[in-house]
Parts: sequence; C-alpha cells; structure tokens
Amino acid sequence: MEQLRKNDPAVLEAMGLELKRQRDNIELIASENIVSEAVIEALGSVLTNKYAEGYPGKRYYGGCEHVDVVEDIARDRAKQLFGAEHVNVQPHSGAQANMAVYLAALKPGDTVLGMNLAHGGHLTHGSPVNASGLLYNFVAYGVQEDTFLIDYDEVRKAAFKHRPRMIVAGASAYPRTIDFEKLASIANDVGALFMVDMAHIAGLVAAGEHPSPVPHAHFVTTTTHKTLRGPRGGMIMCTKAWAQAIDKAVFPGSQGGPLMHVIASKAVSFGEALQPSFKTYAQNVVKNAKVLAQTLVDEGLTIVSGGTDNHLMLVDTRSVNITGKEAEHVLDSVGITTNKNAIPFDPTSPFITSGIRLGTPAATSRGMDEAAMVKIGQIIAMTLKAPKDEAVLAQASAQVAELTSQYPLYQQMNY
Ligand code: PLP
Repeated sequence: MEQLRKNDPAVLEAMGLELKRQRDNIELIASENIVSEAVIEALGSVLTNKYAEGYPGKRYYGGCEHVDVVEDIARDRAKQLFGAEHVNVQPHSGAQANMAVYLAALKPGDTVLGMNLAHGGHLTHGSPVNASGLLYNFVAYGVQEDTFLIDYDEVRKAAFKHRPRMIVAGASAYPRTIDFEKLASIANDVGALFMVDMAHIAGLVAAGEHPSPVPHAHFVTTTTHKTLRGPRGGMIMCTKAWAQAIDKAVFPGSQGGPLMHVIASKAVSFGEALQPSFKTYAQNVVKNAKVLAQTLVDEGLTIVSGGTDNHLMLVDTRSVNITGKEAEHVLDSVGITTNKNAIPFDPTSPFITSGIRLGTPAATSRGMDEAAMVKIGQIIAMTLKAPKDEAVLAQASAQVAELTSQYPLYQQMNY
C-alpha cells in the first residue's frame, strides 16, 4: 500500500479502519463473506485497465488475448462447479444478472410469479420500487403462516391462476431447503420458464450442501460474493438453447465492458470452490448455523421456522421484546454485525422490523467452529435481553474481543 500511503492517505485511512472493523467484529451478515488474499490480489490487478466488450474470441477491442484466457478459465470452472451447459460471468452484480435474464426471456408487461419480498424474496423479484416490478407484472407467492415454509400448493394455485411466462425461485432470507424440482414441475405444468436466483446458497450448492437448481431450471443466476466466497459480482447459467439470448442480454443488452479484474477474481474463487477444502467449509457453514440457531433457542429466543437448513436464520426479536432495528444497533455496539430484517407477516415497517437475519459464512471462513458459535449465541442472547445494561454490554464487548483475537484475520495485511 506504499503508493496509496503517499498519494491518497485519506482513502487509505478509511480502508485501514475498515480492515480493523473486520478484524475486531464478528461478521454475521448472511450475505457477506471473507475472501482469500488470492481473490483480493486478482481484484487489485492491471486487468482493471482493459476494455473487452464482447466475449472471448469475439471482442470489439484489440489486445484481448490474455483477458480471453481469464474469461475462459472463469467460464470453464463455473461449468465444472455447477454442471451448467452455458455460463456468462460478466454481470457486474446479482441485480444485473437477474435483469439480463428478464431482458432475454420476457417482454415488458409479462407476468412473472416470484417470492414475496416480505417473506424472504429479493428486491429484483418484482418489488414495485425495482426495475423488475416496474417493467414486468410480478405476482407473489409466500410462506405458510404456521410453518414459515414455502407453500408449494399456493405456488401451484397461483401459477394456474396467473399463467405466468416465468416462475422465479430463490430468496434473501429463507432459512430452509428449497424444493427446486417441485417448483420446476409446477412451471412445466403451466408452460412457464423457470429461473432460480441462488445468490445466497450458491456456495452450498457448489459443495453439495443444498440440492442444485441447475438440472431443473432454464436459468440460474447468482452473486459470486456470498456463500460462494468470491469477489462482488454476478453470474448467469442457462441451458444451451438460451445461451445466445443470455449473452446478448448481458452485452450489449444491459452492460458495456466487462470488469476483467473482477472476472479474474471470480475465476480464482471458482478454483478455490473446486478444492475439497471448500466442501468442508460449506459443511461447517451449515453445521455452525444449526449450532447458532439451537443456542439461541436454548437461550429463549424464537427462530423463524424453528431452525435452519442452510447458512442463515431469522431471529424473531419480539421474543426478547426488542425491535429488529434496536437489536441490530445494540449488537453493533458490542462488535457483532447483523442486519435488521422483516420476518414473514411482520406487523412493523421495513425500517423497524421484528427480526434480525444472522448467517455463518463469514465467521466460518474466519475459522470459527461450533464452540465459537455457542459463545456467539450466548453473547447475542445476553445483549438482546439487557440492551440498556451498561455492565452487560461491557461484558459482551469483552467476550467479542476475546473471541476475535482467537481468530486473527488477514494477518499479512497492513493498511
Ligand atoms: N439475489 C438475491 C437472492 C440476493 O440476496 C441479492 C443480494 O442480496 C441479489 C440478488 C443482488 O445482488 P447484488 O447486490 O450483487 O446486486
């Protein structure tokens, strides 16, 4: 960081503080992770200089022979990882990936059946404030009020009622296994296309810890930075029949030049995900989530649907008489980073909420194990039960400091 220190100390200072925050806090935001230094090295490389509109072998710029190699490696590794027929690694983000699929497969005004945002779906699955909801006629399915599980009967009924052009599965806050095969059969029965946004669970799918949507869906989109543990970015997989339309919808349909440094970094992370150690990592993510959820239940907190099958859980903070907003705030004050999150059938606004979402991908990358999860669960419980008790908060902060010091992060980095 010598050049930055000399040329831009203000930016470097903020970067240094962020590194310290990541070292000193326990990261439980379910959509975040801690990438390897190799992934970061590829991101901070000269590949950022290169314009490469088009695809390997068919670019609109000269000098692309080396970035072509990089993009081919990324595509080949992704295909191997997920068994996909075709892959596009250029989407700048998960949102871009989803919009590109809609652009390829839908006409404005087409009806799409997607998961209710308030029940765990994502903004890009038809929220009225998002381009998806503005351009297409999204109708929603949700979870059952008693079990908090996806109501597949309701999906089937809604599909026959609305006759959508496409069904979208996938979620940002659903703690249970999704039955992609069942949803695909519903789509098939009504003649709809089937898209799965597996952004949250992609790493678990790569490792075989969640059933794969790839054999069942026409399109599978993902982010690369969540459980998959790559750089921030998006990716689309599809059947051969849709390959050309998807590539056209990404470029020139909705993006310009690809971010070749990010694509290099994606390639590095896919290489890591192909290693046997990644399978162990994903198993530990799921194991840790189960232990964290059970610890919170043992401490008297309510977990939506009673537990988790994947990397995340939703805590109903009403069980300790606190809002999601207050819970996020007080946990932040003791060094535990989470996010407030609406729970299904939440009576409060999305700015207040009755819950927080917790996930184990980042803490597991840091090496935290089941014993650490029990401690974290106990610290969370004591903090949420006494959010105004300074002595309790001081004790919680001290315990977080002790825990983070046992799991050092990015030891070689010096910002
Ligand atoms: N899809 C799902 C299910 C997500 O949870 C997210 C992000 O949280 C996205 C898409 C959007 O990803 P990005 O923030 O990269 O646009």
